[in-house]
Amino acid sequence: MPVEAEPGAHSRSGAGGDAASKTIPPGDERESLIGLTRAELAECLQAVGVPPDKVGMRSKQLWHWIYHRGAVEFDAMTTISGALRAALAERYTLARPETATEQRSTDGTRKWLLRFADGREVESVYIPEEDRGALCISSQVGCTLSCTFCHTGTQRMVRNLDAGEIVAQFLVARDSYGEWPSPRGQRMLSNIVMMGMGEPLYNYDNVAKALRIVMDPEGIALSRRRITLSTAGVVPMIERCGAELGVGLAISLHAVRDDLRDELVPINRKHPIAELLDACRRYPGASNARRITFEYVMLKGVNDSEADARALIRLIAGIPAKLNLIPFNPWPGAPYECSTPEAIERFAAIVNRAGYAAPVRAPRGRDILAACGQLKSASTPRPSRPRATSAGATAAAASAAAASATTA
Ligand code: SF4
Repeated sequence: MPVEAEPGAHSRSGAGGDAASKTIPPGDERESLIGLTRAELAECLQAVGVPPDKVGMRSKQLWHWIYHRGAVEFDAMTTISGALRAALAERYTLARPETATEQRSTDGTRKWLLRFADGREVESVYIPEEDRGALCISSQVGCTLSCTFCHTGTQRMVRNLDAGEIVAQFLVARDSYGEWPSPRGQRMLSNIVMMGMGEPLYNYDNVAKALRIVMDPEGIALSRRRITLSTAGVVPMIERCGAELGVGLAISLHAVRDDLRDELVPINRKHPIAELLDACRRYPGASNARRITFEYVMLKGVNDSEADARALIRLIAGIPAKLNLIPFNPWPGAPYECSTPEAIERFAAIVNRAGYAAPVRAPRGRDILAACGQLKSASTPRPSRPRATSAGATAAAASAAAASATTA
């Protein structure tokens, strides 16, 4: 029977409700509506009996409640009939992943360890500035790329996140800041960086689907100019990412010679520096107003010489670029040390003199292992897919129950 037959009743709770208690209970088999496209939402409405002529209107309402109002339960949707709300609640859920831990750094950085229905975990990190802030979102549980300076790289790849799991990281952070309904003006969660655990261009379809939801003007409505995707160098996907999503691009560069980058960022063996920089030169939308960010982690005695700085300038010539110099953030068992402040200063001065902005990224959240390159969760691959455990993973597992990670 069409559920539209019954007029609406009022909800007993606000849109956001008590988000902390609205996590998916173990054994809940209902499908989550978070992360579905509008067309997929329409299919779900049809599946619970909404007549075809009402599906468009109802999916627009659902979208508004989920992404503008931040509803965590159908009961909060006061513009939707009680019968439809009940029918939706029977088959579907809006529950958030479980927050296994939430840590707050002395500098205001927050880190969430989120646990999904299958028990897999990822970390998300919020880095506040004075009146805004960026949420660093993960795209995979673990990572295939094994960059040697990165804590996530010591965690074997477990699985890709789906679009709902990527969007949910943003929803959890927004619940935590109480930023519902989606503010149109100033907001604390003002930016997204796809720099958490995993290589986003190895999970492009889910990342793209999630970012389209986040950018949708009738929901969270985050401008593509406030989103940056960071890649270790998946060259064949870079142009497509720019053309289809138009988000900002960051490159995890970290070395100016192929022999060294082969070691630090092993995907370089497949897509060497010249090929990567060619892709950057072709990146759609790159301009002086929208520069590509090159991330460069400062490793003592490894990549931090004055000659390295000069080579870096030669390499990026002709690319609208800015640099992010990142003092290495240590993690248990890390094989590197951070460059000295003097070496970082000399390096930055050379790059600055060449006309490039090169802020030295102040370490944030180091005390909770939330800084760049420190993220890692305890999730390991299923026993059915055994892989050798790396020394790094062993050290990390022994030292940190929950986490810490890396930046792609
Ligand atoms: S730096 Fe990024 S791509 Fe490299 S191992 Fe870490 S998470 Fe993966």
